[in-house]
Amino acid sequence: MRTRDFLEWPFFTPAHRDLAERVDAWATQRFAGHGNTGGGTHGDAAGGGDVPGATAGSNAGGHPEDRDSVDAACKQLVRDLGRAGWTRYSVPWQAEGTANAAAAFDVRALALIRETLAWHDGLADFAFAMQGLGSGAITLAGSPEIKQRYLPRVAAGEAIAAFALSEPDAGSDVAAIKCSARRDGDSYVLDGEKTWISNGGIADFYCVFARTSPAEFRPDGSVAARGISAFVVDANTPGFSIAKRIDVIAPHPLATLAFTGCRIPAANRLGAEGEGFKLAMRTLDIFRTSVAGAALGFAQRALDEALKQSLTRPMFGKTLADLQLTQAALADMATEIDAARLQTYRAAWLRDRGDTVTQQVAMAKMSATESAQRAIDRAVQIFGGRGVVHGETVERLYRDIRALRIYEGATEVQKLIIARELLNTARKV
Ligand SMILES: Cc1cc2nc3c(=O)[nH]c(=O)nc-3n(C[C@H](O)[C@H](O)[C@H](O)COP(=O)(O)OP(=O)(O)OC[C@H]3O[C@@H](n4cnc5c(N)ncnc54)[C@H](O)[C@@H]3O)c2cc1C
Repeated sequence: MRTRDFLEWPFFTPAHRDLAERVDAWATQRFAGHGNTGGGTHGDAAGGGDVPGATAGSNAGGHPEDRDSVDAACKQLVRDLGRAGWTRYSVPWQAEGTANAAAAFDVRALALIRETLAWHDGLADFAFAMQGLGSGAITLAGSPEIKQRYLPRVAAGEAIAAFALSEPDAGSDVAAIKCSARRDGDSYVLDGEKTWISNGGIADFYCVFARTSPAEFRPDGSVAARGISAFVVDANTPGFSIAKRIDVIAPHPLATLAFTGCRIPAANRLGAEGEGFKLAMRTLDIFRTSVAGAALGFAQRALDEALKQSLTRPMFGKTLADLQLTQAALADMATEIDAARLQTYRAAWLRDRGDTVTQQVAMAKMSATESAQRAIDRAVQIFGGRGVVHGETVERLYRDIRALRIYEGATEVQKLIIARELLNTARKV
């Protein structure tokens, strides 16, 4: 039932179309047996070959969401995605030597892979995205030695990456971070806390952003973005610990991290001292469009489920699909998804050809995540009581989509970015 006509859009090359089809074929096999309901079931048995675990965890409707099962499923997905060759699109380390490391990322490929994986399985999308986001600062600014130490293992699915920027008092206002990194000879000593860190608890290393000089307050009380640096911290470093695991509505590994006199080699710094904020933003700039891609995958799955349900659900002597209010809901869903998809792949295409796309990326992230939430809510409504039952695909999607409107810049933050760009342009006229 799913239409993939959008792959014919001029934003894509033949290689993108081929990639999207191959990822879809892989995911169809990898998640076979997850059924129309409970698509989030994960096998944690180790597998071999291109599509390991294809038969594991196939109890359609079941959805083990306890922490141990989710951790195990996530680790297995990281390995499988690496072995299948998909992770190299989010960890393009082979492109070593390109003058502009950011140019090594193919944002259209990232968004297409995320859309495809999200359609099949939210945790697979998460595992893929985090390998890229968690190692992006290394790809962009790591020394050749650091790149060689981490990136091949991340791309192969043999090491799990995490991106540690947010703190309890610094989320949207990220310049307000307090975690400190004090230079001491050939080392830095980290003290402080990070929270909401995806892959926290299962990651092998963390790209951590910390203050190497004290916060400078502006007259209005806000903090300037200067004085932040980035570091790689291995999970087994003394002084590093998981302070708390966090359980969220769409379970994935998430934690609060603690740094207590955590000493790391100075060589683990990524980029120049004081340039960490820019590095964090450059990393997020690459991956934000792919958040829109993931939202499209969730939304498209919701529409596909809603179409199936409305065609088969008998009601008032007809089917739900024969009722005009249902048709209106389906039309709204399809139109909003199409508009968001156009914005998403336009932003990715513009970025891949080297344009500055701050405004287009913010529009894509906002419209794709917000419209996906509306589309999924409509799908739940079309399913009636079934829509809120644990194990139903639309119920899972309802939970999967929510955090995307908050992380990597909440919708309100995207609105401010769009308005800032508009006003800057208008002021120049
Ligand atoms: C599931 C999940 C995974 C995450 N993974 C990571 C990770 O891997 N690494 C990491 O570093 N962080 C991660 N985060 C943190 C995420 O980036 C922050 O949650 C996000 O930046 C918002 O920060 P906050 O939660 O502190 O909310 P706050 O900053 O307190 O914002 C609360 C709300 O205020 C509103 N708001 C924000 N700015 C404005 C404004 N200017 N005007 C009006 N309203 C505004 C928005 O609605 C926002 O949602 C994750 C978060 C979640 C939920």
